[in-house]
Amino acid sequence: MANLYLTHHCNRGCPFCFARKVLAKRKDSNEILTVEEITKLLDHYHNSFGAIGLLGGEPFLYPHLAEVVNLLHERHIICKIFTSATNPLPKGIEELPASVEYMNFVVNVGERKTYNDEQFRNLEHFFEKFHQVSALSFTIFDLNADPTFLFDMIDKYGLNRAIRTGIALPIYQGGNSYIMPDEYKKAGEYFIKCVDQAAARQITMNMDCGFQACMFDDAQRGHLLRNGTRLEFSCGAAIDIGPGLQTWNCFPLFQLGYVNAMDADNEQDLTKLLQEQVAKEIGNEFGVRPECKTCEFMLHHQCQGGCRSFKSIK
Ligand code: SF4
Ligand code: SF4
Repeated sequence: MANLYLTHHCNRGCPFCFARKVLAKRKDSNEILTVEEITKLLDHYHNSFGAIGLLGGEPFLYPHLAEVVNLLHERHIICKIFTSATNPLPKGIEELPASVEYMNFVVNVGERKTYNDEQFRNLEHFFEKFHQVSALSFTIFDLNADPTFLFDMIDKYGLNRAIRTGIALPIYQGGNSYIMPDEYKKAGEYFIKCVDQAAARQITMNMDCGFQACMFDDAQRGHLLRNGTRLEFSCGAAIDIGPGLQTWNCFPLFQLGYVNAMDADNEQDLTKLLQEQVAKEIGNEFGVRPECKTCEFMLHHQCQGGCRSFKSIK
């Protein structure tokens, strides 16, 4: 899957945000990924993307969101919009049917205290309208946070009953807040606590990239499986394509350099170019713990050894 990075603007400011450095550097810039660039990209790749993520910054602050959604729809590409939904619904999106089948949302949420009244009103309005096509995204960051608000939101608005769960990962060479490697066991216990509470309310929690198999013992991994969590210990994200069709591996590694999306003819070749770019800086090896080299999970391709951004963190 490819993500289109639409705009540098965002007014939420999550401390763990992957894009924090880019956003800070370019916050006064009106640079955007233009509709013309997106059209050129889709033409070049013969509309071969099955699904495309739309992200930023905040996609609701991108001036042509409805136009891009329509463009993708015309080309039979489903889009997934990653948003905090704390801004008013953009014109043209508000008017779409609530059960629209070619667009869905992943909504990054936090506790009530992280919103001002206006942001929360916008979020509630959004959920009232698009609950049928919305799922929550939650990042493990504060290991004392009470996750109940997630399950309450799902029940109150009738949202999708699977939560995409990330673990706060470092940007290459730092710049955001993240879970330290020596806190991973504790983070694993916290995740299990969340999964148990979710399961009691018929909700599942799935894993995004960066989780490590050794965060959990055998019994804990079995417990997660029994409660519906898909075990995924991967380091490999969607390709991110931004203004000028500059393309990078994933946000945490964006400083390792770009390639241009027009330099490849298909998604596979583009991924290869990006892997070569990353390897020039941090090598080909996966695994950020010393024990990864001989770990059975790594040997059996069950764990990719955590987020490679840690390789730049002393
Ligand atoms: S380096 Fe790997 S684990 Fe870290 S964000 Fe990128 S794809 Fe995910
Ligand atoms: S590969 Fe590395 S991170 Fe994954 S389980 Fe083994 S030691 Fe842990």
